[in-house]
Amino acid sequence: MAKMNENFLNLKESYLFIEISRRIGEFSAKNPDVQLIRMGIGDVTLPLAPAVVQAGKKAFDEMGVKSTFRGYDDSGRGYDFLREAIAGYYKGFGAEIQSDEIFISDGAKSDSGNIGDIFSDDCSVIVTDPAYPVYVDSSIMGGRGVVFTDFLGSDLPEKADLIYLCSPNNPTGAVYTHEQLKKWVDYATAKNAVIIYDAAYESFITQPDKPRSIFQIEGSRNCSLEICSLSKTAGFTGTRCGYTIIPKELMLTRSDGSTASAYSVWSRRQSTKFNGVSYPVQRAAEAVFSPEGQRQIRDNIAIYQANAEIMTNTLTELGVEFSGGINSPYVWFKCPNNMDSWGFFDFFMEQANVVGTPGEGFGKNGAGWFRLTAFNTRENTQEAMKRLKNILK
Ligand code: PLP
Repeated sequence: MAKMNENFLNLKESYLFIEISRRIGEFSAKNPDVQLIRMGIGDVTLPLAPAVVQAGKKAFDEMGVKSTFRGYDDSGRGYDFLREAIAGYYKGFGAEIQSDEIFISDGAKSDSGNIGDIFSDDCSVIVTDPAYPVYVDSSIMGGRGVVFTDFLGSDLPEKADLIYLCSPNNPTGAVYTHEQLKKWVDYATAKNAVIIYDAAYESFITQPDKPRSIFQIEGSRNCSLEICSLSKTAGFTGTRCGYTIIPKELMLTRSDGSTASAYSVWSRRQSTKFNGVSYPVQRAAEAVFSPEGQRQIRDNIAIYQANAEIMTNTLTELGVEFSGGINSPYVWFKCPNNMDSWGFFDFFMEQANVVGTPGEGFGKNGAGWFRLTAFNTRENTQEAMKRLKNILK
């Protein structure tokens, strides 16, 4: 008899995007001539940079020639050329990591869920609420209990094993300072816990004093691993490439009290369950870190950042409390006039024909908050903000 993993029964119904589609469908059926402005999308809208496309095409050509064809990447961890490019990029902002501590993957979503494989089922997990839903759902699938706290960890439990942190944060756009992150590192060290640090939005950081990687924090190599992605950095949501960095110093505790290196356990896990990212995609990813690639992706990010600024300027003008936008493509604001998230969703859609994401979809602390994203055109962003001003007058 194939018994079900009944941990799945403990998952909350993920109704957020289904409910959003249902409400949009109902509205559009009643108002067929109205074009909604979609500010809820967490997906990029600008195409890949030319340097990236060129590198990917060239690699595909190599795959069609016997002398340059490649089959499996036997290491399964990614090619040296890409891992060295990433290590060089980290060095550029003062995070010392070795290229062989990097595991190339198909993205941060799978890594942030799959990383649970290397930890015991009875580890407890701390998640900052509101959060990217994968941390909570994948922990529940693994049978682990989740304890919630806020972004700064103001109310931390006595026992901690795994800690998911995300900065710049989805959905709030908040970013840790060095001091705030150091507190987490000290807490994890004291509890012998592991921080799983999601840096998927690091490239949106504009304030140079903010850390882009947990490995800029003293003491982090003994208690942290980092997951990152080219999805938002370079428009790879449909191309798929990310990476996980596991320092060789990071140790896991065995039941007999001895230790095992997290790096070796993850390495074993990946070589068993993963056959690597395609060669052309890794070549395209390498081009992201070339001087030309960096210039081109920065141009795209600047477009999103300008949209975020239009939003933050409007919210400031309206006196609405918000976070994000400065180091993030997300702007997170308190629903005006004490409306709840869904009440504001309907109000904004019906009165301004703009769609965003109700905050409570990201956790209990998201109730009464709302997320807008900068992944749109400048014209749409400007128009949406003009309409927001009109309806809040
Ligand atoms: N981590 C965070 C915080 C995200 O918001 C997202 C996507 O929205 C991801 C990871 C997923 O990244 P990827 O496309 O690399 O799987």
